[in-house]
Amino acid sequence: MIRFENVSKIYPGQEHPALDNVNLEIEKGEFVFLVGLSGSGKSTFLRLVLREERPTTGTIHVAGKDLNTLPNHKVPELRRQVGTVFQDFRLLPNKTITENVAFALHVLGHSQKEINREVPEVLELVGLEDKGDRKPSEISGGEQQRVAIGAAMVLQPKILVLDEPTSALDPVAAEEVLAILQRLVHDVGITVIIAEHRLERVIGYVDRVVEIGV
Ligand code: ADP
Ligand code: MG
Repeated sequence: MIRFENVSKIYPGQEHPALDNVNLEIEKGEFVFLVGLSGSGKSTFLRLVLREERPTTGTIHVAGKDLNTLPNHKVPELRRQVGTVFQDFRLLPNKTITENVAFALHVLGHSQKEINREVPEVLELVGLEDKGDRKPSEISGGEQQRVAIGAAMVLQPKILVLDEPTSALDPVAAEEVLAILQRLVHDVGITVIIAEHRLERVIGYVDRVVEIGV
């Protein structure tokens, strides 16, 4: 599903590589934690997967595509296959949970009928089926993060990448979010990659832990 071969990334004007000769293969349906100290290149890795950045050297394959040769006009298609959740959630404050999850489908021109079918399924997937009518300010931080995961899942990506998704959450909410993600891997067969710098958050969910920057 994802293959990095001899991938290095040196940002312009920087002396030290953000990633130094990374070789890594992630299969379909894996639940992977990318761990490493702050500054070890975790976010860079995720940005390379999304082709928000390009490697300085090496090749990257994502969902069967060589990102070095992928034309720019195919990048939106790549990003539909690779869903992302940001650490600061980015929910729309004046829309309900249901509307937040439905938003991307509206933008992409899906029919209301389709939206009415898809959104409740996704809300159930992230355990929020009874909170669809609330606004983001009326649910907890952990629930907000689950909405963000739902908003990404509604596009049915093959891969979900999350950059420190529990950093703003207390340990209990963090556990809930990780449990939901693990269930997605199990129930939907999606591939999940989570960047996380706190090792104690990873314990108990260890399918596969990849350490970078060492
Ligand atoms: P992490 O997510 O593990 O904290 P990052 O991928 O953000 O690590 O950063 C890896 C290294 O690359 C750090 O030294 C950081 O300062 C540097 N870096 C990240 N983004 C940029 C950028 N846009 N320009 C220059 N240097 C960057
Ligand atoms: Mg980071």
